[in-house]
Amino acid sequence: MLKGKVAVVTGGSRGIGRAICERFAENGANVAFLYSGSAEKAEELKAKLLASGVKAEAYKCNVADFNEVSDTFKRIVADFGTVDILVNNAGITRDKLLLSMREQDFDEVLDVNLKGFFNTIKQVYPILAKKRAGKIINISSISGLIGNPGQANYSASKAGVIGLTKTVAKELASRGVCCNAIAPGFIKTDMTAAFTGENRLVSSIPLGRMGLPEEVASLALFLASPSSDYITGEVIRIDGGLAM
Ligand code: NAP
Repeated sequence: MLKGKVAVVTGGSRGIGRAICERFAENGANVAFLYSGSAEKAEELKAKLLASGVKAEAYKCNVADFNEVSDTFKRIVADFGTVDILVNNAGITRDKLLLSMREQDFDEVLDVNLKGFFNTIKQVYPILAKKRAGKIINISSISGLIGNPGQANYSASKAGVIGLTKTVAKELASRGVCCNAIAPGFIKTDMTAAFTGENRLVSSIPLGRMGLPEEVASLALFLASPSSDYITGEVIRIDGGLAM
């Protein structure tokens, strides 16, 4: 489905990003992925991707740092020749009720979850516009659609991602580039592992369970493939019906 395409995935070392890297590689894409600290996990994933017969490389890069992102994408283009697909997935939480949320908690989350997406899109924008083809997939959240107590910073960042997605979709539509967002609900990853109210939460999900990273990866594959060529500026929930 993605044979010969070059995909860049941020936050590939763990969770949803890792599942996306694996699904893309299974479908023939060459995968460059970014991570921030998990060097061992990144090397392990790189080996797994290479074993599936595609080109793969891991890049340590803080997506919140514009210059680091710019240098990393220069290396990716030198290593892979081009970029066809960008998946903005790297994200963090610093959950607290707004009353006790520090300015630093707000800034850190916005810097990674929103500015980080700007930083990477800035790198691929001219490449995809020139090619007159390409796919940008941004991982938002249902928190950005409906809000969530304790996540003022996170919800604001994920709502911002939706505005960013629609604007990029409008700017690049005439160049045949699609830009869409995925809004997951509660997915089983390290990010939700510390969550204590799982039973209460699961009972409020119409489909009665948390989602799996592999299920989000299947949606990302669809949005990266020619099957979704007539979809742009869309936000697709994958949440077991939680936010309907
Ligand atoms: P996760 O398991 O915590 O993994 C986060 C990934 O992002 C890791 O690969 C991490 O790299 C990377 N990362 C964090 N900060 C980074 C930075 N500054 N620069 C580069 N990479 C960075 O998270 P997840 O649950 O898979 O979430 C992935 C995305 O889905 C996030 O955008 C999240 O907001 C969104 N989401 C998740 C859920 C959910 O229920 N899990 C729901 C809605 C939306 P290291 O391993 O090197 O730290």
